[in-house]
Order: sequence, then structure tokens, then C-alpha cells
Amino acid sequence: MAGGNAIRGTRVGAGPMGESERGESAPRQRVSYWCANGHESKPSFALEAEKPESWDCPRCGLPAGLDEQAPPKAPRNEPYKTHLAYVKERRSDADGEAILAEALAKLRAKREG
Ligand SMILES: [Zn+2]
Repeated sequence: MAGGNAIRGTRVGAGPMGESERGESAPRQRVSYWCANGHESKPSFALEAEKPESWDCPRCGLPAGLDEQAPPKAPRNEPYKTHLAYVKERRSDADGEAILAEALAKLRAKREG
């Protein structure tokens, strides 16, 4: 049962490395992004890092762009909604048909009986 001690040893040893990584001496730039709802978000990037063309708005989740006058349009999730509605419709249709068929069968049974 020496395994527990070995794991503890590696954890303590890994500490200093994490601390040296945390130093924020690298120069950073703040970039403004605007979403379709007019929200401005200012994430910061390392100066040498290439800034992304779009950024997810932290307030509404829409994609935000660098151009305040022309923010990226909100992605339409209509296809998904339509598909979901379509599936629901189909299901209720099938249910309705089943109920109708049952009712018709009962009617016929009554007439015949
Ligand atoms: Zn937004």
C-alpha cells in the first residue's frame, strides 16, 4: 500500500510549475466585440495572439463581431425548431389517426352489430 504516498509526492512536486505559468507579464490587448443585440464584450488577448474574428457574447450567447455597425447576424435555429415541430406534428398526426381509426372501427362495429 505505498501507492497513496507516491501520488501525494507528485502533487506537491507539480505545484511550482503551475505558479510560474500564472504570471501575467505578457502584454495583452483588449478587443471590443459587438453582438446583434448591441452588447459589447471586451475579451483580452495576448498581443502576439491572433484575435478571433467572432466572439460569443457572454450576455446573450450570440456571435459578436469586431464591427459595431455590422455585427454578425444571429444564427437561425429555425431549421431545428421546424424539424422538432415537424416531428411533433407527425407524432400527433399519427396519434390522431390512430384515435380516428379506433373511433371509426367502433362506429362500424356498432353499425354492423
Ligand atoms: Zn449579446
